[in-house]
Amino acid sequence: MELWFSEMQSENIKMSYRIKNVLHTEKTKFQNLAVYETEEFGRMLVLDDVVQLTMKDEFVYHEMIAHVPLFTHGNPERVLIIGGGDGGTLREVLKHPVKEAHLVDIDEKVIEASKNFFPELNVAFKDPRAKVLCEDGIAYVKRFKNYYDVIIVDSTDPVGPAVGLFRSDFYRDIFNALTEKGIFVAQTESPFFYEGLIKEVYNCVSEIFPYTALYTAVVPTYPGALWTFVMGSKQVDPHKVDLPQECGFKTKYYSPKVHRACLQLPPFIKEIIKK
Ligand code: SAM
Repeated sequence: MELWFSEMQSENIKMSYRIKNVLHTEKTKFQNLAVYETEEFGRMLVLDDVVQLTMKDEFVYHEMIAHVPLFTHGNPERVLIIGGGDGGTLREVLKHPVKEAHLVDIDEKVIEASKNFFPELNVAFKDPRAKVLCEDGIAYVKRFKNYYDVIIVDSTDPVGPAVGLFRSDFYRDIFNALTEKGIFVAQTESPFFYEGLIKEVYNCVSEIFPYTALYTAVVPTYPGALWTFVMGSKQVDPHKVDLPQECGFKTKYYSPKVHRACLQLPPFIKEIIKK
């Protein structure tokens, strides 16, 4: 019998993957979690029937959500990741000479699934600079003032526990938790399917931060493939950064040239974020 997993990318579009094996399914306190072995994309992590990552293309998202803000900052020492329980973003952050990398995911079962099924991602959990906490990132960030150099919001889509991660109160708390030169980034979904959300987040962030920048990357297993990230910066203009010639460690998608290019937006995306 053929096994397929389908994600509804919108009300009218389904993306289907042929599955070799269902490795794990469970209902956690927060979401339905599944790990599949797919034919084309290798292992896949799915939450509430939405693809979070696959082994074939995870590097794009994780490198781009980590290295763009970290290189924009220049010398980050303390980094916070909200969400990201799979460990992929943490792995990329730890390629930088940071002193502390904290990860706060609301769902300990995502972290457990990564430890059990994704050895290429969970290496980062063993690094002595990493601290992993299981709690709501919205409450966590309120307890910090002027502490983190970079905050990365590596969240699920804006449903369930992640709704508050796309609100302006949360961005204000993030602003306060950042140091003077602090930078924040959030994944902001597809410009084909989430135009309204991108516009709202971009506007909220630009009301709070002196500098706002949107950038893109291509992630084949996310709806529409073209993905967006919104960055808020307190002091550094993300469009005028002196980047190193080379990044100094191995990457598969990110490079300083890609960094500069990803900030160049096609006219239809510029239109979305126009005031
Ligand atoms: N790369 C992914 C994507 O865009 O599909 C995101 C991956 S990561 C697995 C998302 C994580 O955000 C999940 O593990 C989920 O538990 C976590 N999350 C959702 N809401 C949260 C909250 N309020 N605080 C902390 N973590 C949260």
